[in-house]
Amino acid sequence: MIDNSIMVRACVLQCKEYVIIDPIDPNNQDLINMFEMKHFGHPLATIPLSEVEGYCKNVENELFTSIY
Ligand SMILES: [Zn+2]
Repeated sequence: MIDNSIMVRACVLQCKEYVIIDPIDPNNQDLINMFEMKHFGHPLATIPLSEVEGYCKNVENELFTSIY
């Protein structure tokens, strides 16, 4: 089932990577910041998860590993 209410921050054109945006989770802002730093200068988009699923990769675990 695809939930269009879930949004992601995605580097769609260059890296095909994304992280899920969770406004409830306080750690999520750190994750978004890390993602934006990593993709500095790349065209980032905030779009529904359904638009990136299948061809972009979720890199949340990789980013968390590099933070902690
Ligand atoms: Zn990128």
